Amino acid sequence: MIFRLLLLFLIIWFLFWIIKKQFLGTSSSTQQIPDESEDIIPCKLCGTHVPRSLGVKKDDRFYCSQEHADQYQTDLDEK
Ligand SMILES: [Zn+2]
Repeated sequence: MIFRLLLLFLIIWFLFWIIKKQFLGTSSSTQQIPDESEDIIPCKLCGTHVPRSLGVKKDDRFYCSQEHADQYQTDLDEK
């Protein structure tokens, strides 16, 4: 009888583990979508508001892309 209970417990634990794994799997796959609590910062060059994780930070300034970071630096050098 105790073995049946143990088996039942194992099955429940296994199901719980599957659900937990699946839940963690879906939450990590949606990580691409920026979190609402994440900072949205305007690009120094074009002013486009971009989530911090998707942008590029260079010399304490924030840009929407690496291209704009380089472009801004080139513009500064030309001046
Ligand atoms: Zn930009």
